[in-house]
Amino acid sequence: MNVKGVLIDLDGVLYTGECPVPGAPGAIRYLIERGYSIRFVSNSTRKSQGTIASRLLAFGFDVGKEMIITPSVAAMNFIRGTGRTQCHLLTTRELHSEFEAAGLLHRDNGVDWVIVGDAGDNFNYGTMNQAFRLVQEGAGIIALEKDRYWMGSDGLMLSAGPFVRGIEYATGKTAVLMGKPSPEFFGMALRDMGVTPGDAVMIGDDVVTDTGGAMKAGMQGILVKTGKFSQEALAGADPCPTVVIDSIASINTIL
Ligand SMILES: [Mg+2]
Repeated sequence: MNVKGVLIDLDGVLYTGECPVPGAPGAIRYLIERGYSIRFVSNSTRKSQGTIASRLLAFGFDVGKEMIITPSVAAMNFIRGTGRTQCHLLTTRELHSEFEAAGLLHRDNGVDWVIVGDAGDNFNYGTMNQAFRLVQEGAGIIALEKDRYWMGSDGLMLSAGPFVRGIEYATGKTAVLMGKPSPEFFGMALRDMGVTPGDAVMIGDDVVTDTGGAMKAGMQGILVKTGKFSQEALAGADPCPTVVIDSIASINTIL
């Protein structure tokens, strides 16, 4: 495969739960040594960019924070671009801190945007109903991601998608999507590397969010059989990934 830039998903590709994928740190070192431009594009919305970087370091991946692009980074750029910066965050506390550090304060009324990430245990009737009311009163919905689920350390976990859909259903409004598979999100990562879609490949474990989204944005897609991979999902994939490999550990057979 002849490419210059490589976008890599995190969860399910480099680690699953609290365990790094065997051979993955070596695979990343290999890609860096071969001179590929790399960005890590994660739909992870429970943790900040800084926490994700520290976690990767603990797993043995020596990558800088600036190489990690998350939906919250994209959302902060987007919100500033609109000039309407009053936010209500339906996210984890950690993301509240990340937004606050960027000068975007969490508010409970009169907001421009309701921002929905994977809030974990912060999703409940009260928080969902508050988000619903704010949108009814005129706020737009920003979905940090709309994934259905992810693979946790003890099994599948609901992601933000089902909750975003719930608010969309109740209000009749459609969320603006920040993370994968939004073409703008892939575009932001490619611009950051200075690489065109035709010179890039996305490595991921999700046929919709990762390989499907990237291929629709003009890149190639490598699906790994770790993380949430399932044969059923692969059979129904449209588009079909360019290549399927057992794990990122065998990336040297392709790149
Ligand atoms: Mg993944």
